[in-house]
Amino acid sequence: MCGVFGAYSARDFVAEDVYLGLSALQHRGQESAGVAWIDENRRVNVVKGMGLVHEALSQSVLANTPVTRAIGHVRYSTSGGSMMQNAQPICANYAQGPVAIAHNGNLTNFLHLRETLESRGAIFQSTSDTEVILHLLAHQSRRRPLDALLRALSEVRGAFSLVVLLEDGLVAARDPWGFRPLALGRRGDNYYVSSESCAFNLLGASFVRDIEAGEVLLINERGLTSYSLPDSSKMAENSKRRWFCSFEYVYFARPDSVIEGISVYRARQEMGRLLAKSVSTESSPSGIGVPSVDFVASLPDSGTTAALGYSQESGIPFEAAVVRNRYVGRTFIQPTQKVRELGVRIKLSPSPELFAGRKAVLVDDSIVRGTTAGLVVSMIRECNASEVHLRISSPPVRYPCFYGIDTPSNGDLAAAKNTLEDIARTVGADSLSYLSREDMMKAIGLPPDSLCTACFDGQYLDAPDVDGERCRCSCEKIFE
Ligand code: 5GP
Ligand code: SF4
Ligand code: MG
Repeated sequence: MCGVFGAYSARDFVAEDVYLGLSALQHRGQESAGVAWIDENRRVNVVKGMGLVHEALSQSVLANTPVTRAIGHVRYSTSGGSMMQNAQPICANYAQGPVAIAHNGNLTNFLHLRETLESRGAIFQSTSDTEVILHLLAHQSRRRPLDALLRALSEVRGAFSLVVLLEDGLVAARDPWGFRPLALGRRGDNYYVSSESCAFNLLGASFVRDIEAGEVLLINERGLTSYSLPDSSKMAENSKRRWFCSFEYVYFARPDSVIEGISVYRARQEMGRLLAKSVSTESSPSGIGVPSVDFVASLPDSGTTAALGYSQESGIPFEAAVVRNRYVGRTFIQPTQKVRELGVRIKLSPSPELFAGRKAVLVDDSIVRGTTAGLVVSMIRECNASEVHLRISSPPVRYPCFYGIDTPSNGDLAAAKNTLEDIARTVGADSLSYLSREDMMKAIGLPPDSLCTACFDGQYLDAPDVDGERCRCSCEKIFE
């Protein structure tokens, strides 16, 4: 997963705005950060580094960089390795001028395109899928850059939300299915494009609208010009079908963002409410029954909004009984299993005073590998809790994502091969139940044919291009 941000102004310097925008998108990627702009000599410039925004970039240097349009990126690798060459924005000065690209999403036909381009002489500098867009563009040296970009984007498949800087202006583009979010904001005459609307709040900008699925929006001194991807009507032939990622609402996006008109906070709260309702009306799928407990707790921060909804619906009080060390980043961001496991212990700590001798429902947004839930439940047991019932505010994650979220290969997904009873036993919970797919869709509130739920139900758009068992989209996942 990644975050992208772009800024355009007729006269204000905007590089610092991009820095601040990226800080608000930090939850979308903590591996590297970068900012790019085009200078007065028509050359593209980029500063990037590894780590968090404030580690990778200098705010004071950017504040003094006299540019009126710039783009930026925060990266969490879902394609290509974790290294400096793969940090974005990706930049080039080609026959038609300078270009910089920042990308969120995974291109599913990446390897196929890369092989074709290499057979035509392209030399790739990185292992990131985004670089194929640059090569596809540069291979059309007689077209003006915007036309070349439109053509290039009609050849790629899968998920992309992009901000692109051309001499002609700032471009925002979203794939015809809309997997990853992308929003337009405005402050006075300045325009901003951001993965999530939460970044506008920080800049005092207001949300204008989402970039539409299949839209390419050019922002320059002539104003805003909207184009449709050349064959998006054909690709989106069953007209209104969209593939907005449901996992953005479950986990990924910040709760103060609004995506496709839906508040992420409200969606999560409703997921918690429906979770409480389903548990009180049916026995849990594992047949363990309805928990009557002293309090509801969450795995912070990702499970908290749903836990509040659960508490509001059930009338059981919420206690902030698991404390999060806010100076340790998202568990998932750590690349190895060993670091990931240690990370949970460093990050989350249950209060013995609250758990000792008491019964609790513990709400989290999702179980992926099962590492987090297993470790926290065992820490809660060490606090002498009498019962711990785990409630998950999304359906079981059974299939890998190859549209840009780093769910692992299905062999590593707790729910891919195990029954709920097995998972409950492995994580050590007295009972376990998940939100149903239908309730998740209901909580989000978008028409059912506008959401992607592939990691829950295996219903992919375009079957993965699998070579043997390995996905050819470069997400490096194994399909068993
Ligand atoms: P697990 O420990 O089961 O592998 O991961 C589950 C935890 O990681 C949950 O608390 C959830 O908030 C978080 N999580 C779920 N999916 C993702 C993801 O795709 N990326 C990141 N960074 N975290 C995730
Ligand atoms: Fe989102 Fe899951 Fe679809 Fe990936 S597979 S885009 S995580 S809903
Ligand atoms: Mg979490």
